[in-house]
Amino acid sequence: MAITWTIIQKQRLKELNASEMQQKQCFESTREREQVFQELERQLVVSSKRRLSQLQKSKKRPSLSVLEQELVMALNQKGFVQVVTPNIISKGSLAKMSISDEHPLFSQVFWLDSKRCLRPMLAPNLYTLWKDLLRLWEPPIRIFEIGTCYRKESQGGLHLNEFTMLNVTELGLEVSQRQQRLAEIVSLVMSTVGIDDYKLEVTNSVVYGDTLDVIKGIELGSSAMGPHVLDEKWGITEPWVGIGFGLERLLMVKEGAQNVQSMGRSLSYLDGVRLNI
Ligand code: ATP
Ligand code: MG
Repeated sequence: MAITWTIIQKQRLKELNASEMQQKQCFESTREREQVFQELERQLVVSSKRRLSQLQKSKKRPSLSVLEQELVMALNQKGFVQVVTPNIISKGSLAKMSISDEHPLFSQVFWLDSKRCLRPMLAPNLYTLWKDLLRLWEPPIRIFEIGTCYRKESQGGLHLNEFTMLNVTELGLEVSQRQQRLAEIVSLVMSTVGIDDYKLEVTNSVVYGDTLDVIKGIELGSSAMGPHVLDEKWGITEPWVGIGFGLERLLMVKEGAQNVQSMGRSLSYLDGVRLNI
């Protein structure tokens, strides 16, 4: 029988960002395994320290912040206006997204008190701004936000309790243009991140019904379009498109990281590097 890593070794290799191949290695004997492990761990620690040193000496900002800035510039250049809205939202605005007590997302919400919670998504705030901006600006209204969203998740390598969402929206376009605009926005975001050969797949969202997702091995983004049944509650009648991406997941795929935690807000990782080295 082939000998594989112990659970503890596997865990450590993941933390140190060993490649898929390194994690799948098999051995003739436990002695061989221990030797290979020691050497591999040493090499991974060396490269982790090198990356930390680059952060200190030249890069000076974590990839998450760098990516955020690059996305802001790329989107601004295409006419999208950045907005910054509250992290704390009302129970009422969630209910307007159809997320009330029995909804699957409801149990994932961090409540501050009976009326307020930490936002699990950016959409309620963007819907609210749309209504005012429609009155004040000529359509199409192109706005985006990059901000933290909060969801109680049963952890795992793809889910954070707090993650950074980019939500790009365009309101007041022709119905016939929606598919194409979505594809253009996806392409702009993905080329800015530096990920190619992604797929677009139709899936079902608990909030929006059928959505077009951006996939590269994992779900990176989810889009929706209006007119949509939710629009009425927000007083919106114009056609729209919108897409939300998780920046930590984008970075995970771009940098080949083994878990999303390493790319997010963390006290155990700094810019993808595990600190207990
Ligand atoms: P999943 O099905 O993978 O849990 P989702 O469909 O619930 O994700 P959406 O509500 O569509 O997620 O959010 C848009 C994007 O935000 C996702 O495509 C993903 O990139 C990111 N995202 C969602 N939840 C998390 C999370 N807990 N941690 C990190 N990123 C997340
Ligand atoms: Mg989704």
